[in-house]
Amino acid sequence: TTATPAATAVTATHCPYCALQCGMGLTAGTGGGVEVVERASFPVNRGALCGKGRTAPALLSSRVRLTEPLVRSHATGKLVPASWEEALDRIAGELSRVREEHGADACGVFGGGGLTNEKAYALGKFARVVLGTSQIDYNGRFCMSSAAAAGQRAFGLDRGLPFPLEDIPRTGCVILVGSNLAETMPPALRYLTELRENGGTLIVVDPRRTRTAEQADLHLAPRPGTDLALALGLLHLVVAEGRTDEAFIEERTSGWEGARAAAMAHWPEHVERITGVPVPQLRDAVRMFCDAEASMVLTARGPEQQSKGTDTVGAWINLCLATGRAGRPLSGYGCLTGQGNGQGGREHGQKADQLPGYRKLTDPAARAHVAEVWGVDPDSLPGPGRSAYELLDALGGDVKTLLLMGSNPVVSAPRAAHVEERLRSLDFLAVADVVLSETAELADVVLPVTQWAEETGTVTNLEGRVLLRRRAVSAPGGVRSDLDVLHGLAARLGHGKGFPVDPEQVFEELRRASAGGPADYSGISYERLREGDGEGVFWPCPDPAPGSGQVPGGAGVVPHPGTPRLFLEGFATEDGRARFVPVVHRAAAEETDAEYPVLLTTGRVLAQYQSGAQTRRVDELNSAAPGPFVELHPRLAAGLGIADGEAVAVVSRRGRAVAPARVTSSIRSDTVFMPFHWPGEGRANSLTHPALDPVSRMPEFKVCAVRLERAERS
Ligand code: SF4
Repeated sequence: TTATPAATAVTATHCPYCALQCGMGLTAGTGGGVEVVERASFPVNRGALCGKGRTAPALLSSRVRLTEPLVRSHATGKLVPASWEEALDRIAGELSRVREEHGADACGVFGGGGLTNEKAYALGKFARVVLGTSQIDYNGRFCMSSAAAAGQRAFGLDRGLPFPLEDIPRTGCVILVGSNLAETMPPALRYLTELRENGGTLIVVDPRRTRTAEQADLHLAPRPGTDLALALGLLHLVVAEGRTDEAFIEERTSGWEGARAAAMAHWPEHVERITGVPVPQLRDAVRMFCDAEASMVLTARGPEQQSKGTDTVGAWINLCLATGRAGRPLSGYGCLTGQGNGQGGREHGQKADQLPGYRKLTDPAARAHVAEVWGVDPDSLPGPGRSAYELLDALGGDVKTLLLMGSNPVVSAPRAAHVEERLRSLDFLAVADVVLSETAELADVVLPVTQWAEETGTVTNLEGRVLLRRRAVSAPGGVRSDLDVLHGLAARLGHGKGFPVDPEQVFEELRRASAGGPADYSGISYERLREGDGEGVFWPCPDPAPGSGQVPGGAGVVPHPGTPRLFLEGFATEDGRARFVPVVHRAAAEETDAEYPVLLTTGRVLAQYQSGAQTRRVDELNSAAPGPFVELHPRLAAGLGIADGEAVAVVSRRGRAVAPARVTSSIRSDTVFMPFHWPGEGRANSLTHPALDPVSRMPEFKVCAVRLERAERS
């Protein structure tokens, strides 16, 4: 079925993929489909789009999208078409049975960082109110959770960027740690280019000389898993060279002595031995960072996806605090969140330990507030559940069923073969998706759901900018929205009210649930977003007239302007001071040895997005990046007798992956790199280690020990 444009006019909307949430226009194409047109007025990307965004409409009318529910036949064991009634009845029946036989916590729910705010909110409410289960988490746990935990710990609040992207070109120096944004979010590269054009300097920290690192004034290439030691070494030098900001430390922080002592135990020469980064480069970095009047540290998945990710980000935050580079104009620490709604997706209650408004599930006042909005007894709300990997690991054990929306863990989870085996061991698996993903292939029921351009919803980009993503085309018959799915299931499970299908109604409830919380959306409404300038509103945005019944921004109400810049007056901690946390270097969960002598690090490529469930099904993207590869240094390749293009097997203690070698001197000679977007024999996550960060429960995607073998590709 081909999607047809709802109107010939241009609909101002946003890309379905990454957290930049580039603005775009959609209009009727000449061939009957929809076309992307430039929307230069949206400030984040000013009309620029990467290939993923430009080709996003292809999946709307793709032959491979799902347009009818599928259920697994008891007779043949195969997925066969079914009616919506049959599919929803089957899911509701299984959820009821399992809950009755094994208790509510035997029902698991798994969400995604690509779900709109409304869907994330409704999914969390569905789990806690309808199922009464604590067993809900989402794939954002695999994305930026370490940065979120470190931000909460230091500043009392986590918003990816506490300042808008437009501040980046106006600062003096940026240290970009573990981000290849030239490939992951290309339109954002201009902020770094403009920084350098304005006389600022760019330092990139990455074990690979990526397209982003090539833009840098200084590229530091540490051994994977040692970013924490690197940050400690820089802080040591800051102290030793008298570059601390004592007045800032005194007036706006607490805990400096402990952090200082921890850093002083990491001598630069020692740090050089751990990281492989020469001391003169450490000194250059300190000079560039401290000479600038204002400077920033931005992290992404490199330092975050480690079993010490929270402490690693904490070490970079300590560097900012010690030099007075936080809570001041054009300075600070920020995280470049990855998934489309990675920011909003973590604020509205699909996380194992959180309620809407970014409230803690263990806080009695938060429970009481949200319970009142939901019309339930606070004591009926379950407590925190397992984190994403722990939940997946428990499938088939005490968790018997799983309802999964917006995620493809067969490709994206660590130790993926084990996760796949756990999914297969479930009593019952239900998946809502737009295509038959590798995870959906294992399901007992697959529900075909609407795509971004076929539904309206809000998303919150990496700056904390709440945006209205508008419906531009009608969905094919046979497809329903995730909100419709939750409504249908809730009704069958005795909760007919409380799960509206209309996203605006859901958002109205979300506003009330978030009111007074850290991520306060109560001053934002669909009307305000619809009538506004299209640039969105930054949270926190409290309602200046709560209970007035008036629309924020409507006649007679002075709207809260939103908060583009956080912490300028004080941090969000109880005493308003940012907290230093003493952190020390520790080894990765798995070090190299004689059997597994090489480090593996994983990441992304320009033409694919996350598990590739969508982008692998777009011809243009698939041609540009048709499969995985193993990037390795010529010295390593020569030692093993591996030629460029030859099949190479990468073997870890958890599995084996085979892909063509890409021999390049742009990577450290002790490290190989694999992108993780593909399933099958080239699945990088067959190799990765599920060791978890003790605070964020983030798995160690970025470093594990492997060996390489020449291989025949099957
Ligand atoms: Fe979409 Fe991100 Fe590409 Fe922008 S950078 S077009 S949001 S994938």
